[in-house]
Amino acid sequence: MKSKRVIILGGGISGLSLAYFLKRNSPIGDITVVEKSSRAGGVFGTDISTGFFFERGPCLFKSDGHSGLSQLFKMLELDKKAAVAEPPYLKRYFSWKGKMQQVSLFSLDVWSHFFKEINAPVHTADESIYDFASRRFSPAIAEKYFEPMVCGYNGGDLKKLSINSYLPELKAAEQQHGSILLTYLRQSFKRKSPQWNQTEWLYFPEGSQAVIQALVDALAGHIRTNCAVEKIDYRDGKYFVETSQGVLEGDILCSALPAPVIGKLWVPELLSIPVGGLTSVCLGYRKKVLPKRGFGFFFPPKNEEGALLARFDSLVMPLQNQHKEETRIAVRLRHSDADKEKAIELAVRALKNHLKINDVPHRGEATIFEHGRPLMEVGHEPRIRALESMLAARFPNFYLVGNYFEGTLAHFCVSRSQTVARNITNKLASSLIPSPS
Ligand SMILES: Cc1cc2nc3c(=O)[nH]c(=O)nc-3n(C[C@H](O)[C@H](O)[C@H](O)COP(=O)(O)OP(=O)(O)OC[C@H]3O[C@@H](n4cnc5c(N)ncnc54)[C@H](O)[C@@H]3O)c2cc1C
Repeated sequence: MKSKRVIILGGGISGLSLAYFLKRNSPIGDITVVEKSSRAGGVFGTDISTGFFFERGPCLFKSDGHSGLSQLFKMLELDKKAAVAEPPYLKRYFSWKGKMQQVSLFSLDVWSHFFKEINAPVHTADESIYDFASRRFSPAIAEKYFEPMVCGYNGGDLKKLSINSYLPELKAAEQQHGSILLTYLRQSFKRKSPQWNQTEWLYFPEGSQAVIQALVDALAGHIRTNCAVEKIDYRDGKYFVETSQGVLEGDILCSALPAPVIGKLWVPELLSIPVGGLTSVCLGYRKKVLPKRGFGFFFPPKNEEGALLARFDSLVMPLQNQHKEETRIAVRLRHSDADKEKAIELAVRALKNHLKINDVPHRGEATIFEHGRPLMEVGHEPRIRALESMLAARFPNFYLVGNYFEGTLAHFCVSRSQTVARNITNKLASSLIPSPS
């Protein structure tokens, strides 16, 4: 097998994990990761400069022992550095008629729809989460429970977001057993918690930057930072990538860029995926200010501060606390157009208005993510598959990875990268790529 030159565009977790799997799994030759900013890692970022431990981006990672992310952690020996977020702290709250209530699909008003739910017809086609929940329960249940649970994380419109993309376990329960509630009961009787509760969330006491550092160390010599992709060309079976550091030539091209970026550069079809902005505000207090113990709070939809979620970081990730008495809250705002000072002000106001936290934080940091929230709307999956087939026919050896395929969370990104790395390796092994003469 001749050595191939692989160019990976974008050095976030998708691009780095793809490079890592390729390097580890196949004698592939040259791999270059091209990253625009001065550091790799994309939306990952740990900041301790304020005296508080602020996770600006991802910090909690779903682990099931066998997913791509779990395997990556093992390969990089990151599993030894990780801690488990304690389950009691995974309680999520939302505001209902002015009171804080726990998010649970298994509360009384949901069970009052038992007979309707077990007799509701099974729909195989994808549909909006609103339609799914209204059909099986009621529009009121859709708005009360499903809206905070899904839109609190992602923003977006419940009437457009895809049930298949966001809550595939519930759709699978409907398909396999005809009912979500019966599935829950059946699994409870077997003393097995339903699949959607079987999650262990890991965090890194030294910060999620540890993940990026381990990948960067393993990929030493393969990452070019301060290297922005400006133009892509495909001629005579080769890819030519114009960057701020000159032209790179490759046999295999992989994009790990956000959908709107690769959409503008090379694949205009990707511009149809809605991607929202996001501002993450980390606030630190030298006292306890939280009204409840738990993972966090989903703000009411369409609140005037534009707040989505407040994560109670000091409770969820206690090993990161720096002071004896401390509260850390990460507030997620649904826009990226306010300046940082304004964003901090909005986050503090949202906590005051919705959680009655009147204290002024000791420190606050805002980070703006222009492409923070890809939204997967009804029909997303078949659209993506059709796009992949079209691209495969037009551009051989061109691959897409990122957070707009299986889901936005890091484990979805890594699983996508692992699959693509495997495909490339298999294709190379079966010598489907003609060797350069
Ligand atoms: C605030 C926030 C909190 C999150 N929290 C969690 C969490 O707790 N758990 C979880 O599992 N997931 C979480 N996520 C989701 C998950 O972390 C992201 O979806 C994932 O990290 C995205 O990785 P990526 O590599 O696909 O994209 P990105 O991280 O966006 O990486 C894309 C890279 O491309 C680079 N780039 C852009 N343009 C160019 C160009 N022209 N040339 C070269 N390079 C370019 C960028 O600089 C960037 O490094 C969170 C996301 C955000 C925004």
